[in-house]
Amino acid sequence: MKLDPKAIRYLTSEDFRVLAGVEAGSRNHEVVPTPLISQLSGLRGGSGVHRSISNLAKINLIAKVKNAKYDGYRLTYGGLDYLAMNAHQKQKVVYSVGNQVGVGKESDIIVVAHSSGEQRILKIHRLGRISFRTVKTNRDYLRHRSTGSWMYMSRLAAMKEFAFMKALRENGFSVPEPIAQNRHTIVMSLIDAFPLRQISKVPNPQGLYSELMDMILELARFGLIHGDFNEFNLLIKEEVDPEAREKYTPQTKLDDVADADIRLVPVLIDFPQMVSIDHMNAEMYFDRDVNCVKRYFQRKFHFVSDVPGPTFAQAKKNFLKNPGKRLDVEVEASGFSKKMARELEKYMQEVGVDGDAGEREDDEEGDEEEEETDGEEEDEEESGSESGEPSEDHVSGQNDQDVDESSRR
Ligand code: ADP
Ligand code: MG
Repeated sequence: MKLDPKAIRYLTSEDFRVLAGVEAGSRNHEVVPTPLISQLSGLRGGSGVHRSISNLAKINLIAKVKNAKYDGYRLTYGGLDYLAMNAHQKQKVVYSVGNQVGVGKESDIIVVAHSSGEQRILKIHRLGRISFRTVKTNRDYLRHRSTGSWMYMSRLAAMKEFAFMKALRENGFSVPEPIAQNRHTIVMSLIDAFPLRQISKVPNPQGLYSELMDMILELARFGLIHGDFNEFNLLIKEEVDPEAREKYTPQTKLDDVADADIRLVPVLIDFPQMVSIDHMNAEMYFDRDVNCVKRYFQRKFHFVSDVPGPTFAQAKKNFLKNPGKRLDVEVEASGFSKKMARELEKYMQEVGVDGDAGEREDDEEGDEEEEETDGEEEDEEESGSESGEPSEDHVSGQNDQDVDESSRR
């Protein structure tokens, strides 16, 4: 499942109203009957609606479902993508869609552009998509899962991520700038940097290590634990060290700056699994975050800190003595309620969402030369994802033969 924006400009406003009708109907109906689609789209019935339905089905934004009682349609991930993209374009958040830069287990990351030419990142949450490895154990669960639930859960993940990114950004944390959220998607600023995972040499591992530990402690001081703090979710920006700035002009290219004058600035991303410091498993999540960094620095940079910890007890003490603003509480107040948090957490546990951490644990053995195997694993996950598309086996898209296979992925 990939965002395929090709057809978006050919859809009429009627097509979008019908698509929104199927979306609205999906909230209460696993299969949305055609008359209900007409009604919800607010268009007067007749051939227009039917033409739109068949257009939408042809490009797989909705899929025909033959139910025991009646025929109807369900919204596909593609359909939900188009509704969100249409909203972002209408609100002038996104002007054009560029390349996909990442395929995670539960998200797609795409570079988009604003009309000014500024590049941004669109993150599409796909909580229904399950990794190849976990799909077997979760098959029964997936079969009984409704269209409504993957749509809702993916939207919750996007809401949660946006709310946390906003709160963190406003409180001075080094995270991307959150720009907009619609349905299961968010738009944020593009960080021109590579994940730590792809950085082979760090001039001063001790410095970066301390900065990361400070970040974990600072999060805790604001009532938060990231929960997936690892080399994939830390983007490392290179900047001229402020102390060395006078040696260079503003035009100097980074390539021409001496290694010793470059400062690495970590930017934290990926927030759907954040938890409050009051969470019942807070200590486990905190220790896991700390140990991820420790293990990675040891393995990759052969760096072992001579300072033990930090421990959860230390973080908690810090938090009680000198608390920052309670961002866990602030996020709740912003509309991402405790109930939503619980629903999302339960779903993520049930379908085996474990962030990037699970991925890493698995290829631990393979060690340094992992980049290539990673690529292969991603392919595997992509094909797994197709069987993960909700209810696919009960569904036949109209004119399936007409559709280019690549546009369905
Ligand atoms: P997932 O939940 O699938 O792990 P992430 O939010 O961690 O998704 O993003 C996956 C990858 O996409 C990151 O490792 C990074 O390479 C890239 N990425 C995500 N957000 C940004 C951003 N704002 N700027 C640049 N690259 C990003
Ligand atoms: Mg990630």
